[in-house]
Amino acid sequence: MKVSLEDLQASSKTIEIQGDEEWLQPLYKSFVGKPGSQLLTGTIEIKSEGYGYASIEGELNYTPLVPCSRCADPISWPLSRKLEARFKPSDEMATASEVDLIAEDFDYYYVEDNQVDIQQVIIDAIMTSLPSQLVQRSDDGKSCRVCGKDISADEVYRSKSKEDESPFAILKNLNLPN
Ligand SMILES: [Zn+2]
Repeated sequence: MKVSLEDLQASSKTIEIQGDEEWLQPLYKSFVGKPGSQLLTGTIEIKSEGYGYASIEGELNYTPLVPCSRCADPISWPLSRKLEARFKPSDEMATASEVDLIAEDFDYYYVEDNQVDIQQVIIDAIMTSLPSQLVQRSDDGKSCRVCGKDISADEVYRSKSKEDESPFAILKNLNLPN
């Protein structure tokens, strides 16, 4: 779902997400259960900041089904979060330095073909809201609320292939030019 900055001109545009939008289908497919059986809803306001900059603010509500890390039974995992992101002109890409990346408080994206891709922002927001290990604890915290399996041992939360799942693991396999 891309929104053209030309349509915004100097004003803002509010998008109400109903949950049945076609561009949400790829997100739904990344979760277990029937795609679209749990609808993502929310409101997004897109503002043009001029000079090719834009910002978006909003909130999302979504309750995906995620597999329990212990038993793989589906768990309803309610997510409710605010959305905040900035868009820069794509010609700034060339000047972005490592220092910029560390210092920035917001999630930054790039305007491409004078368009902002709110679909990507939403997917990122949902994916980063999910913990890597999911077990819905019972009230005493000792067992999985869904399957009742004992989760009092530490190993439950330790991923078997932790190293492989690290976002930096892939860097080890890169052949960087000298
Ligand atoms: Zn379980």
